[in-house]
Amino acid sequence: MDGAAADTEWVPEALGFGQHLGDLAVAATHDGAGWSELRLVPRADLAPPMAGGAVQYALSVFEGLKAYRDPAGGVHLFRPRMHARRLVASATRLGLQPVDEALFIEGCVQAVRAHLALLPPHGRGALYLRPTLHVDGEFLGLRAPRRHGFSVLLSPCSDPVLKRLRLWAEPELIRAARGGLGAAKTGANYAAGLAGLLRAQQRGYDDVAWLDADDHCRLAEAGSMNLFVRVGDRLLTPPLDGCILAGVTRDSLLHLAADEGLQLAEAPLDLDQLMCAERRGVLGSAFGCGTAARIAQIDEIGNVDYRIRFADDGLPQRLSARLKAAQEGADSRYAGWWWGV
Ligand SMILES: *Cc1c(COP(=O)(O)O)cnc(C)c1O
Repeated sequence: MDGAAADTEWVPEALGFGQHLGDLAVAATHDGAGWSELRLVPRADLAPPMAGGAVQYALSVFEGLKAYRDPAGGVHLFRPRMHARRLVASATRLGLQPVDEALFIEGCVQAVRAHLALLPPHGRGALYLRPTLHVDGEFLGLRAPRRHGFSVLLSPCSDPVLKRLRLWAEPELIRAARGGLGAAKTGANYAAGLAGLLRAQQRGYDDVAWLDADDHCRLAEAGSMNLFVRVGDRLLTPPLDGCILAGVTRDSLLHLAADEGLQLAEAPLDLDQLMCAERRGVLGSAFGCGTAARIAQIDEIGNVDYRIRFADDGLPQRLSARLKAAQEGADSRYAGWWWGV
């Protein structure tokens, strides 16, 4: 990793996210008959062909999960089986050959073991893993894919600090519609979203709040985070309607938030209802969540026509602390979510 690990000044808090990559990756290939053994290879040797489905037709899917050091110094992956199952679902939606759960987890374990020296101490960061499945081979047409590549890239990252965001409720562009790719973790969704992010940033917002494709009335998700809003003593998050990603962090929070004494509901986040709740004084905090950021507080969602201001009720901070303990191996009630490396 570009010298950072060898540097005696190595400070986990300065790693950020996604900026440093491990020199090695774990990779396997599928030739149409079955998956090869996993191999440890130089990351720089992995390159999907230009004249192939991954580059030309966005035929690739990915995952993002983290490995943490627990208080006793042990190392675990957080909820790798749920990530493995989601990669299978994403691959199936795109028509790709899935990798089975065992190969997925073994690839992650090997990637972590090869980079243990880069794993920050307990509480100060993680190894972010990026398992990727793509169509391999050279062919300039769309056909049933034969050759596939699976690889696990790795990036040491800081413990995320709780950010505060203003989101642009995008009034024209959409990210996903029913029957589309919204529930798949695939680059095509990011391709659909980049122009919206640029628009948001040009207007001084931090990220996009994507709305539903039918009538642009309901919050769907942020660029790479699922959304939660508190209204009174209810904590609401949009249902898994096929247009949003089934976030592992979202699912974890649906378990953890019960400890806050809140009533949880997967329910549409209708903009009009949120504005009404704001007028009535019962609109609480809002936040986005995902593996990379953990939790990001949302102060405001709006565009040129309206602005919804969320309360600062301390809930994002409290849930972030609960989630951090569950992820990092400090809250043994969630030991079932840890996979020892
Ligand atoms: C990965 C991702 C998320 C967050 O999912 P987690 O499993 O919680 O990391 C949310 N939305 C999109 C579009 C994503 O790609």
